[in-house]
Amino acid sequence: MFNNLSEKLDKALHVLKGHGSITEVNVAETLKEVRRALLDADVNFKIAKDFTNRVKEKALGQDVLTSLQPGQLMVKLVKDELTELMGGDAEGINLSGNPSIILMSGLQGSGKTTFSGKLANYLRNKKSKKPLLVACDVYRPAAIDQLHVVGDQLKIDVYSDKGNNNPIAIAQAGIAYAKENGHNVVIIDTAGRLAVDKAMMDEISNIHKAIQPQETLFVVDSMTGQDAVNTAKAFNDILNFDGVILTKLDGDTRGGAAISIKSVVNKPIKFIGTGEKMEAIDVFYPSRMADRILGMGDVVSLVERAQEQYDEEEARKIQKKIAKNQFGFDDFLKQIQQIKKMGNMKDLIGMIPGAGKMMKDVDIDDDAFKGIEAIIHSMTPDERSNPTVINASRKKRIGKGSGTSVQEVNQLLKQFNQMSKMMKMMQGGKGKAMMQAMKG
Ligand code: GDP
Repeated sequence: MFNNLSEKLDKALHVLKGHGSITEVNVAETLKEVRRALLDADVNFKIAKDFTNRVKEKALGQDVLTSLQPGQLMVKLVKDELTELMGGDAEGINLSGNPSIILMSGLQGSGKTTFSGKLANYLRNKKSKKPLLVACDVYRPAAIDQLHVVGDQLKIDVYSDKGNNNPIAIAQAGIAYAKENGHNVVIIDTAGRLAVDKAMMDEISNIHKAIQPQETLFVVDSMTGQDAVNTAKAFNDILNFDGVILTKLDGDTRGGAAISIKSVVNKPIKFIGTGEKMEAIDVFYPSRMADRILGMGDVVSLVERAQEQYDEEEARKIQKKIAKNQFGFDDFLKQIQQIKKMGNMKDLIGMIPGAGKMMKDVDIDDDAFKGIEAIIHSMTPDERSNPTVINASRKKRIGKGSGTSVQEVNQLLKQFNQMSKMMKMMQGGKGKAMMQAMKG
């Protein structure tokens, strides 16, 4: 996320971080570099200029030049300013209605339908809500189908009325359906166009007026940079929306949208989308994002993600299995799946302070587990729970079935063996024996 920007800011601030003597000249030079980095990230010119001016003012006010650690202080000032620019404190979603009505708006392809599903899933799992998804795109039948696919996948109800070409009527019927069926949140997915046009604006504005949602969210693709900011402005002028959802932050986004949007529309970014999967949704915390942009990592989010995927009951079951020597490849597969749910590897590594910079040239393969999974999938249930039965001919068969080699199968079996031994010893608390197992 924002690799380029992080790198440039790091370079810009490097001088101040390292050098003992700091002069007004190199503070000015640094800020010029900071501004250039922001512009390269597609931050609006005026915003970038105001940004550096404010940092400069604060720096002078705080006597950076005579402070003990001028570099650190400058980094802090930049961080605070970035945080402020992106929105200060995190803001939640208004769920006061019964049902609470959430209207999604945005261009076609921005990620509205995907985000509607993510949000429904999030509200059910995190806020114990019973959401209903409503499909109001009357122009593209495929969009309605897409929402149903998302709903089926999540086991969340979807209301639609194919053939009805009045989105207001569908939205109202959806809300009535929610009331009848005990849904306390209604998420309304609407039609988008490829670009802002009057027909789309009139339609979303009419739906907005008719259903008076508690929360209107504007979804925007962060990859579109300055365009994202302009589109946000157009939608905000019509809808006066409550919050922004920035999607596709997992891609090669330059960061301009994340940094500029708040100050242009004066509305908070509430969530970010970081992948195509339904779990790839994060609450937006400006201060954590600033940390990440400045290469300081985001340990808080990393720990939170790990905790989210931690299933206490499952952990207990696995512990029992280890104790009884019954930990098999099926359990191993489950563990891999849990790690994968935490997000893509590059993203996770970016949350470790300093690691993003260190690993930037390392090609981290998100399919790192693919071979392992393929091998396990090619095993019979018996082989998975009792790997000792895997003899030479079985290894051959498994290698063939998984598109790997006997060598790779052997390697996995060896690793699995070592891991099982280690886990057993950890259970017994035999540290010394564990060290030996690790060596062997
Ligand atoms: P809509 O037309 O606004 O409803 O957009 P969709 O929800 O259909 O999304 C358009 C495309 O973007 C789809 O291929 C999604 O899988 C993809 N997408 C949505 N959100 C994200 C995200 O956060 N990250 C990535 N990488 N892809 C996303």
